[in-house]
Amino acid sequence: MKAIVVRPGERDSIHMRDMPDPKMKPDQVAVKMLRVGLCGTDAEINHGLYGKPPDGDEFLILGHENLGVVEDVGKKVKGWKAGDLVVSTVRRPCGVCPQCKSGENDMCSSGQYTERGIMRRHGFMAQYYVESPQFLNKIPKPVRDFAVLLEPMSVVEKGIDHAFLLQRRTTWKPKFGMVLGGGPVGLLAAAVLRARGLRTLVIGREEANDLRAQISKQLGAQYLCVANKALPDVPKETGYPDLVIEATGSAKVVFDAMEILGPNGVLCLLSVTGGQTQNQEPIDLINQRLVLGNQVVFGSVNANPRHFAMGVKDFVTIDKKWPGTLSRLLTNRIPWQDHKSWFNERGSGIKSTLEIS
Ligand SMILES: [Zn+2]
Ligand SMILES: [Zn+2]
Repeated sequence: MKAIVVRPGERDSIHMRDMPDPKMKPDQVAVKMLRVGLCGTDAEINHGLYGKPPDGDEFLILGHENLGVVEDVGKKVKGWKAGDLVVSTVRRPCGVCPQCKSGENDMCSSGQYTERGIMRRHGFMAQYYVESPQFLNKIPKPVRDFAVLLEPMSVVEKGIDHAFLLQRRTTWKPKFGMVLGGGPVGLLAAAVLRARGLRTLVIGREEANDLRAQISKQLGAQYLCVANKALPDVPKETGYPDLVIEATGSAKVVFDAMEILGPNGVLCLLSVTGGQTQNQEPIDLINQRLVLGNQVVFGSVNANPRHFAMGVKDFVTIDKKWPGTLSRLLTNRIPWQDHKSWFNERGSGIKSTLEIS
């Protein structure tokens, strides 16, 4: 079959090539790929910054944000049929740590997990893959158009889920959520907060007529451009948020965000920043606010199957409340033969996808 691969560790090694067809076992299903979403992780793997091929392989099939359709079902598999739409989870448990053993492979403490398209497991930029049903999510037809966003959605669901779990330390009834960054993760977070009934403010650097602002408004959220504003000044106009989701990709913003939380507020950090930036920060002020406000700052990465399931449920809710909105995140649909165009120059859209079939 055709697949898009990299040689991990080597810069710009991405190319399309013939790879062996995957062989389906009786307890697996075979999935034909429809499309994959592209994100910074794919670009960084192609830059040689991280990623590993499966043991014994030279190449890694890239791609972790996926949507496919079941083509064949193994004899021992129940509850699946050809034609079912499907999104696979990404991380697989290590089998040794207590978190993975209890189904929380997103919290793996041994570091020996594997991830499709990233770490020692082939990804989804291929014509086919095979998988055990326990790692698959069935996609309802009405959300098919944007279901390729389920993997980034699962990251958002985990962050918000953990914010609520952490806040079981007190009586918490959040009313005002702030989302920093209008990329795919930020806009998905805004959609989830709106679905939970929070007043939501998306903060970005793009102008107020940008597509990101339009999508925010369509979700019933407000949008504020901070191109000429300091973030710590914003709550004086808007009020102090109960929950802040940080998804800008800038560590400078993370520390500014520690100055804007309301009483008992929570700041959830979702950006992976790979740089070595140094910066001066008002550390006494930040510490004083965190202590006197009983505030929480936490980092969150990846997601477990429970969060994928939450994402499917919220997709249905969001599509009913604000039909067609999430499809607008998919701004660049690229035929997969033309993948190099995105890896050479990422362009200005919100989410790019490779269309496989
Ligand atoms: Zn991604
Ligand atoms: Zn583990």
